[in-house]
Amino acid sequence: MKTIADYIRTIPDFPHEGIMFRDVTTLFADPRGFRMAIDQMLHPYAGMRIDKVVGLEARGFIMGGAIAHQLSIGFVPIRKKGKLPGKTLSQDYKLEYGEATMEIHDDAIKPGEKVLVVDDLLATGGTAEAGIKLLTRLGAEIVSTSFIIDLPALGGRKKLEAMGLDVQILCE
Ligand code: 5GP
Repeated sequence: MKTIADYIRTIPDFPHEGIMFRDVTTLFADPRGFRMAIDQMLHPYAGMRIDKVVGLEARGFIMGGAIAHQLSIGFVPIRKKGKLPGKTLSQDYKLEYGEATMEIHDDAIKPGEKVLVVDDLLATGGTAEAGIKLLTRLGAEIVSTSFIIDLPALGGRKKLEAMGLDVQILCE
């Protein structure tokens, strides 16, 4: 039987020379692969109370929507700067080259709500950390974070675990 990693394609030199881009569109496009990924992401949370799924732009929306539907709970997007129409909170974070900003609607989460944070890939952890800072500022309780892929050499998992967060990964 195929594993999650078997459905993921690697594209060399994208978006820059020397980068091996892990392309999850091939996983999402396959009916067995996509269902397996969502089922495996859900598995650790059976019986737990979660109020909202939070997806990080953009691929986090794809799994996050499916997971929220499966749990019959709401979905909240964290987006890149300038995309959300309502009043937002902003958080700057570092990229490999330069900086970026993530935003969340300031009324998207109520204080004390239990949230699950979802994205496709964990590299340095900078993107997830920015999202978690936004959620913490809104008073959310982060139940867990869930990613399809971890790139262990880049230290993201260690960074999130050092913040006291639970980190779930489908493959390295
Ligand atoms: P980090 O902030 O942890 O360094 O980078 C993770 C973010 O960059 C995630 O939002 C992820 O979607 C994106 N990302 C970085 N490298 C890759 C890659 O090789 N494949 C995919 N699918 N996303 C990547």
